[in-house]
Amino acid sequence: MKTMTGIPASPGVAIGAAFVYADNDIPEIPRYSLAEGQTAGEMQRLREAMEKAEGDLRGVLEGVGKEMSGEHTAIFEAHLMMIEDPYFTGRLEERIVKERQNAEWAVRETARELAGKMIVSSDPLFRERAADINDVSKRILYHLLAIKKVSLANLEHDCIIAAHDLLPSDILVMNRKKVRAIVMDMGSGTSHTAILARAFTIPAVLGLSAAVSEIVNGDILAVDGSLGEVIVNPPKTVLAKYQKETAKYRKKADEFLAMRDLPAETLDGRPAVLKANIEIPEEAETAALYGAQGIGLYRSEFLFLAPGQAAGEEVQFRAYSRVLAAMGDLPVTIRTVDIGGDKVLSGFQSADEKNPLLGWRAIRFSLALPDLFKTQLRAILRAGAAGNARIMFPLISGLEELERALALLEEAKAECRRQGCAFAENIETGVMIEVPSAAMIAEILAEKAGFFSIGTNDLVQYSLAVDRGNERVSYLAQPVHPAVLRLIKKTVDAAHARGITAAMCGEMAGDPGFTAALLGLGIDEFSMASLSIPAVKRVIRNVKAEECRVLAEELVAGRSATENAALLRSWMERRRLS
Ligand code: PEP
Ligand code: MG
Repeated sequence: MKTMTGIPASPGVAIGAAFVYADNDIPEIPRYSLAEGQTAGEMQRLREAMEKAEGDLRGVLEGVGKEMSGEHTAIFEAHLMMIEDPYFTGRLEERIVKERQNAEWAVRETARELAGKMIVSSDPLFRERAADINDVSKRILYHLLAIKKVSLANLEHDCIIAAHDLLPSDILVMNRKKVRAIVMDMGSGTSHTAILARAFTIPAVLGLSAAVSEIVNGDILAVDGSLGEVIVNPPKTVLAKYQKETAKYRKKADEFLAMRDLPAETLDGRPAVLKANIEIPEEAETAALYGAQGIGLYRSEFLFLAPGQAAGEEVQFRAYSRVLAAMGDLPVTIRTVDIGGDKVLSGFQSADEKNPLLGWRAIRFSLALPDLFKTQLRAILRAGAAGNARIMFPLISGLEELERALALLEEAKAECRRQGCAFAENIETGVMIEVPSAAMIAEILAEKAGFFSIGTNDLVQYSLAVDRGNERVSYLAQPVHPAVLRLIKKTVDAAHARGITAAMCGEMAGDPGFTAALLGLGIDEFSMASLSIPAVKRVIRNVKAEECRVLAEELVAGRSATENAALLRSWMERRRLS
């Protein structure tokens, strides 16, 4: 038996036989210098390989469109953009024509060069995009070297996939019904693989370093995606424990899924609306599976963090339309890009801002680049013609920003009108409350907002002065700090006084430990990772709105985060809800 520990990337427990997926099937890359007369032929060889790679990607896009209800295309579109990217193709040509490198070597070196630039980015999401470059370059190399790849779409038996690295395309096309778990040397919690594994609810342990190479086909693996543990060929006792855990997990998952269609309503009849947060369009499928009553936060910036350039209007239109189609009549709240801060977009931002979290971020970035902003607004407006779309502005700190954003929305509508395209004329617009100043003037913002959605991740960060990415001060990031609760209460009261919805889409909304307090504060809508919906619903269905109101009153009047946390814990324990 061997135990490996990696990054817990997607929760769930599984036991199964390993299928070792060798993606490292590219042999040594040949390297030689071309004679002067050979460069034209080599360029032709490269063009053919790139065309074939492009053909593959388009084939996958079409296949995915048919077989997977058109929900899996954003990543491939980013890859297509990458193949057509003038910088990428320009560097290849330079290497072959000027530096006389053979095509394989030119592809490998250009990919290394680009990936190397991304890997040093301070933004983990952007660092992960280096994986996309490798994905695309491998596709081209397969054709240059005439390598046939095994497709995970053809899996016939249940298995646990063990790989050094998986391309996002591998995960998207694989026969998901047969995959019990994924274990991988590479990857992090924010990698595409992790995002997709969670979206498809497949347990996954990533970042195992070089451990997977020690697994052989047919080894029995016990995987705990919540703990980040992988046990290879466990003895009977461990196997029995895992089998029990698996059964328990399945039972819980079944119970949770059985709650799918039960109303999120307190014992005394107060309804709450539970929605999902998504980062990529394919997550809408999972949201529907967990009974989400809409998408409360679509983090649209993920479309822009792909390599190459910002996603154009058509790419965005298709992505938004896909989510809207997957959700039917249910509302989909698309947040305009929250780029900047910890999500740096190459080409637009200098990475050397002294205080990026207090800098050129979110709505500030969009308002400074009105063309880019209006392109996004037009894409949402047009997609909204055939669905229930809503727009939400991030990081509003004062009235002027909201008014300017609304004015640009009117301009975007006028542009749609001029172009003669169908669009959502009366689209609802909301404001994210994530800066303390916005909470303090909530009653003023409420005059111009269709709804509020409280982003506690940032509200906690800015009100308690705690960098949300800094582990050394994370102990201070307490959502039940009385100051945070008072800001939330102020926001909710201002929304209700104006008759608009008070939603919450920060992580706090998906933590069942806070649900009763939030109900008591008057939150109408909770938006969270799909997987969290059942646990939050369970709490809602087992408390009374009136007792939650009393609890919230006590918490708001609380003296410290520590005392409030203790009060909340004992309140939950008394009701056997923890
Ligand atoms: C938040 O700040 O709570 C939020 C939901 O936005 P993000 O986590 O994307 O900053
Ligand atoms: Mg935020």
